[in-house]
Amino acid sequence: MIRCQNLSYPLKFHIGMFIANKEETLLETIMKNLNTKQDTGFMETFKMRLKAFSEKLQTGISKDLCEDGKVIFGPFLSTRLGMCLGINNVKSKACTYNCIYCKSGNTSCCSICCDTCLNAWNLASCVRRKITDLQKEGVEINYVAFMPDGEATLDSNIGRKIQLIREMGIKTAVFTNASLLWNYNVQQNLLSADNVIVKIDTVNAETWEKINRPHLRLSLNAILESVREFASQFRGELSTETVIVDGYNDNSEEIKELGEYFASLNAVASDFSFVDNSKIATQKITDPMMHLNLTDMIKRKIPGAVILGCKEANYYQAATG
Ligand code: SF4
Repeated sequence: MIRCQNLSYPLKFHIGMFIANKEETLLETIMKNLNTKQDTGFMETFKMRLKAFSEKLQTGISKDLCEDGKVIFGPFLSTRLGMCLGINNVKSKACTYNCIYCKSGNTSCCSICCDTCLNAWNLASCVRRKITDLQKEGVEINYVAFMPDGEATLDSNIGRKIQLIREMGIKTAVFTNASLLWNYNVQQNLLSADNVIVKIDTVNAETWEKINRPHLRLSLNAILESVREFASQFRGELSTETVIVDGYNDNSEEIKELGEYFASLNAVASDFSFVDNSKIATQKITDPMMHLNLTDMIKRKIPGAVILGCKEANYYQAATG
């Protein structure tokens, strides 16, 4: 009978894997040799077999995660970033906001606690595999973009994930609503990215409450200050994106204040898009002329502003612009 009490946990794990892999004969031989510890040649072979099996197991895990399309999606073409692979790195619709225009529906978990669904090594392994497959098809990826159906920085390991992907020679971008940037760890995590896109729809607290419907413990002033602080330290490209919602942030006062704030960030670009009002039950359908006037006003008041979509464009299209 095999006695396992004296074996270390990793060895037990690998032996368990061998059993699962129907390698009982090899296992019996291993146990006999472990007791005597005389055959060093055998142990070398054993180690090599274990390594090969671990790699096989890892490949299997990565394959499953890559192919379900839930964690990694794309490729898709972004006008600003080029060819991208998207990463869904938090649980579906776990967010610090519950924006009235969110394409993902109501927030299922309004949280300011960190939450993640895949560890850094597994994600890196999935990304490497996907990129290799795409290269075989002649598709080169310019950016890996963290843009989940929720808030990317709720993932406390996002910094490690960014580093591992950058070590592959691929640039990284993070789309964030910036609501957790007051947290030191979140700032440090994002500093290693090549490109950070912060979503700021308004600098007016009342409008912010109405459009973004934030977690109760968040403060707009703290967020705006932390984005400024981050901008002063960040060595990559920082840009902003704003969703204009009719009846909320579509007036000249809002646009003027946003313009002044964006100027203080030295952002490389400020992207604007219009929410599709037909998807917001409480809003009326907007006059197309009003959008044209608003577009003019944004361009006049905010240097470097780019209008990404017409009123038919939804938030997702804006985010990938
Ligand atoms: S920040 Fe993004 S994911 Fe979160 S509720 Fe708003 S639109 Fe949806």
